[in-house]
Amino acid sequence: KQVLLEVKELKKHFHLGKNQTLKAVDGISFKIHQGETFGIVGESGCGKSTAGRTIIGLYDATDGDVVFDGMNVHDMNEKERFQFHKQMQMIFQDPYASLNPRSTVAEIISEPMEVHGLYKTKKERLKKVYQLLEDVGLNRDHANRYPHEFSGGQRQRIGIARALALDPKFIIADEPISALDVSVQAQVVNLLNQLQREKGLTYLFIAHDLSMVKQISDRIAVMYLGHIVELTDSSQLYKKPLHPYTQALLSAIPIPDPDVEDKRERIILNGELPSPVDPPSGCVFRTRCAHAMDACSAIKPAWQEIDENHFVACHLYDKKITGGQDHSQVAA
Ligand code: SF4
Ligand code: MG
Repeated sequence: KQVLLEVKELKKHFHLGKNQTLKAVDGISFKIHQGETFGIVGESGCGKSTAGRTIIGLYDATDGDVVFDGMNVHDMNEKERFQFHKQMQMIFQDPYASLNPRSTVAEIISEPMEVHGLYKTKKERLKKVYQLLEDVGLNRDHANRYPHEFSGGQRQRIGIARALALDPKFIIADEPISALDVSVQAQVVNLLNQLQREKGLTYLFIAHDLSMVKQISDRIAVMYLGHIVELTDSSQLYKKPLHPYTQALLSAIPIPDPDVEDKRERIILNGELPSPVDPPSGCVFRTRCAHAMDACSAIKPAWQEIDENHFVACHLYDKKITGGQDHSQVAA
């Protein structure tokens, strides 16, 4: 499998003045393969949106590297950067806030084409707009209407059409269905899946809800307080979650079959999400972890591959810390 995007030790810190630094993203690394859907999941404030925005270049990275299609963003010249911005597009959570209310649908979708100097005439651009509207399940009659005339689901389709206007390879979808009615969510997920097949797209799918990312992602990274704490295949994460935080997130998802009695115990996290301005020492999760040991406040857990392609950062799985004992059963 060819790697399309590699993120290496990426950091995004915001300086708040008075020597205070908000460490929104604090050293995350992963690779996304061509044609894959890679999910990032975590509760609000974990840094997942900031990570997406830093990768696409809406924020300057504080440190680390973003390598796209074999090229490091740092090393790109102006022309290469322009191409990069064409290849990577974003879909936002709130389709209404991200669409200019005073522009028609045709204007909204053709704007990126104009910026990038594609499809020289207005007529050519309009032809592309019609094609895109069809691709996302709308039609050409919608082209001269305004965003407020559409439902939430339709507006998100317009946002998707705009993201596709430059024929990108890679799309970052930041909670693209969180603001939609439950009945509409599945339709938009189906559309994203269909577009992926038809156009060979690669997705980074950001969500706060594990049940949502599961449906669409091949692999999932679990983020907590600026760090990735676990990373594996979507099915493996559900079958055998290793990190206590992942286990807590999973325990909160109801079993969909009403005939199956849900015997699992809901894991309640201790306390509140700490501030990323003053994160806990050692393991960032330790203030809320039921398994925290002495080592957890002193030593940052190493990133380890426990099973094939199953990575976790937790001392319970580190025999150097637990003195050779495997504590994984304690957590599981
Ligand atoms: Fe809990 Fe310690 Fe593992 Fe962190 S390293 S998740 S505090 S057991
Ligand atoms: Mg967000």
